[in-house]
Amino acid sequence: MGEWKMSRKRWRSDRLAQLGSSIFTEVEQWKQAAIAQGHSVIDLSIGSPDMPPTQSVRVALSQAALRPDMYAYPGTRGSAAFRQEAANWMEHRFGVKLDPDTELVSLMGSQDGLSHLAMAICNPGDAALVPNPGYPIYSAALALAGVEPIFMPLKAENGFIPDLDAIADEAWERAKFILLNYPSNPVSAVADIALFERVMEKARQHGVLVVHDAAYSEMAFDGYEPPSMLQIEGALDGAVEFHSLSKSFNLAGGRIAFLAGNREAVGALRELKGNIDFGVFGAVQEAGIAAMKEAMAADAPPKAGALYERRRDVLVEALQAEGWKVEKPKATMFIWAPLPEMKWSLSGPWNSRRISQEMLAKVGVAVIPGEAFGSEGEGYVRIALVESEANLLEAAKRIGKFIRGEFD
Ligand SMILES: *Cc1c(COP(=O)(O)O)cnc(C)c1O
Repeated sequence: MGEWKMSRKRWRSDRLAQLGSSIFTEVEQWKQAAIAQGHSVIDLSIGSPDMPPTQSVRVALSQAALRPDMYAYPGTRGSAAFRQEAANWMEHRFGVKLDPDTELVSLMGSQDGLSHLAMAICNPGDAALVPNPGYPIYSAALALAGVEPIFMPLKAENGFIPDLDAIADEAWERAKFILLNYPSNPVSAVADIALFERVMEKARQHGVLVVHDAAYSEMAFDGYEPPSMLQIEGALDGAVEFHSLSKSFNLAGGRIAFLAGNREAVGALRELKGNIDFGVFGAVQEAGIAAMKEAMAADAPPKAGALYERRRDVLVEALQAEGWKVEKPKATMFIWAPLPEMKWSLSGPWNSRRISQEMLAKVGVAVIPGEAFGSEGEGYVRIALVESEANLLEAAKRIGKFIRGEFD
C-alpha cells in the first residue's frame, strides 16, 4: 500500500465550523476534567428532560412495537392517525383548526424540521430573521442552507422580545422568514398574543413567512398557558409552528414532533424530507397519539409543567438566598441568569465562559455560558432544571460557595 499524498483532501466541510456546537463539546470536556479531579458533578447544562413519559404512553409504545405491521417504512408525512390526533390536539389546546393532510407533517423531533426548513423554503443567498441569543440550530440551519442570518437582539430591557421597529425595512424585504420561539430557550421569556399579531402584520406587509418554535408550549407555570402563533386570524396564510413532544410529554428520546400551518411551507418541508427520510417509526407515532389523547382527556397541562415549576421555585429561592439575583421564569426548563457578582477575582474579567468553566472546576456544577447561544447571550448563563429538588438545593449551596470564593 502506498503513502497518502501529503496534500490529502480534508474530509471535513467548512460548513461544520459554522455549526457552533463547539461550546457544548467544550463544556463536556470541562465536565470530564472536573470528574477526573474527584468532583461529583451536578449537570445543569443540557436541556434534556430527566423524567420518562407516562406509563400509558410507554405501554402504547411497547404494544405498537410488538405489532408485525409496524416495520415497513412509515412514510414521511406521518400516519393519518398521528396527523389527525395532532390536529385534534391543536384544536383542543389552541382552538386552531388544521387540515391534517395538507397543513401538518410529522417530524423526527422539531430539530429535524428546524434543520431542514431553510433548505426547503429558501434559496442560497436568501436571508432570514433569527433571534440572538437563540437555540443553536436556528443559525446552524441557515449556515447549512447558505442563508444569511439577520439577527434580532433579545434584550432584557425589552423582556427578550425583538424590537420589530428596529428591524430595517430593507431587512424585512430581504428576509424569507422570521423565526420566533416563545416560551424561549435559552432566555425563558414568554410572549403574548399581541406580539404575535404585530409580527404577523409586519410579516404580511413584506411577504415574510412567520416560523414559530413552540417547543415549550406545555411547560409553563403559575397557570400561564402559552398561546399559539396559529391562533392569529389569517395565520395559516403566513405562518408555521413547530410542536415537539420532547418537552411536553418527556418523549425527547422518541424523536417525534410536527410542523403545522401554511400548506406551501409545510408541503415544501415534506417534499424535502421525502428525499431524506421515510418518516417516524410507527410505534413512536402511536406513543405520540397516546400522549396527546391523555393530555386532552385530562384537560389539564401535562404533569411535566408542575414538576419544573417546583424545581424552579426550589432553585431560584435557594440561589437568591445565596445572594445571586435570579428571577423566576414563567415557562421552560431554564433559568437565564445574569452573571453573579463574584466576591473573588481571576486575572482578567469574568465573563459567561469563565464563570461556567470555573464553577465546574471549583464546585462541580455545570451550566452553559450564555455566549453559546449568540453574542447577545454574553453576561448570562443558562441553568437547566434537569435534576431532582435535592440536587438543585445542593447545586445552589455549591454555587453560593463558588461566588464567595469558599473552596480549596
Ligand atoms: C428542546 C427544544 C426543541 C425540541 O427539539 P426536538 O427535536 O423536538 O426534541 C426545539 N426547540 C427548542 C427551542 C428546544 O429547546
